[in-house]
Amino acid sequence: MISTRRLGPITRILLARTVAGRPLHLASAYLVGRTLIDSGPPATARALVGLYRRLGVERVVHTHHHEDHTGGSARLRRKLAIEIFAPPATVAILARFDRVPLYRRLVWGRPRPVDATPFSGTLEFDGMRLEAIPTPGHAPDHHCLFDHAHGWLFSGDLFVHPKVRYLRRDEDPWLQLEGLHRVRALRPTLLLCAHAGMIREADAALARRIEFWESLARDARRLRAAGYSTRTVTRRLLGREGGLHWVSFGEFSKRNLIEALLGGERDL
Ligand SMILES: [Zn+2]
Repeated sequence: MISTRRLGPITRILLARTVAGRPLHLASAYLVGRTLIDSGPPATARALVGLYRRLGVERVVHTHHHEDHTGGSARLRRKLAIEIFAPPATVAILARFDRVPLYRRLVWGRPRPVDATPFSGTLEFDGMRLEAIPTPGHAPDHHCLFDHAHGWLFSGDLFVHPKVRYLRRDEDPWLQLEGLHRVRALRPTLLLCAHAGMIREADAALARRIEFWESLARDARRLRAAGYSTRTVTRRLLGREGGLHWVSFGEFSKRNLIEALLGGERDL
C-alpha cells in the first residue's frame, strides 16, 4: 500500500505490505523537493520505484539502518541510480544488511545490501540544512535529521508514539531518553515521525513522550522498593502483554521496557 499526504512543501509517503487488503504496519518516508528521508520497507520497493520516477527523487538520506526505513534504497539505487546518504555507522551496516528475524521479514520483507555515501556535518539540499543528531538507544546507529533552515525534525524511530509501552530486547530506553532531551533542546517546530506522522506541536509531543517513560521509571522503582517482582510491576503499570509481544515471538515486550527502566541508575 502506498498513499501520500501533503503539508506545505513536505509529502508524507505512507507505506505498508498488505494482507487481504489491510496494511500490516505503516512506515513513512518523507519527500522534500527531490530529497527523500528514508525509503520504506523492502515489500513496497518495487511499487515505490514508479512513484519516485514520477516525483523525480534524486537522493535518499537515512536515519538508521532498520529495513522499514531503508528497504526501498537498494532498488532505487539499482533502477534510478539515486544516491543514498547516511551517517557512517549506518553505511557500514547497510553494506551487508540482508538478514532480519522471520517476523520482521513477514511484515516488511527481506532487506538487500546497498552502498551508501557516509556524511557527517550538514547536508544542504532542497532548501534544507540537515544535520544528523546522534540519538542511539532504538538502534546503535540511530540519528535524527534536524533541518536547521526550518526547524523540522525527522525523528526516525525516536518518537514513534507519545506513550511507547513496548521495547525490543536490544533497545536502551535511557539512551533514547537522552536523545529525546537532546532533540527537544533544538526547539523543533515540526516533528516528522516515521510512524506517528507530522506533528506541529513538536515540543509538547516530545515533552509528553519523555514524561511517560520518566514517570514509568519512577513508578517502577517505587513498586520494586515495595518488594514486587518485575512481572508484577509490569502488569500493574502496563497491563498484560498484547499483540506485538506474540507477533514478534517475544522480541517486543512490556516486560523488556520495565526491566530496562529498572536497570538504569539514572537520577529522575
Ligand atoms: Zn527502527
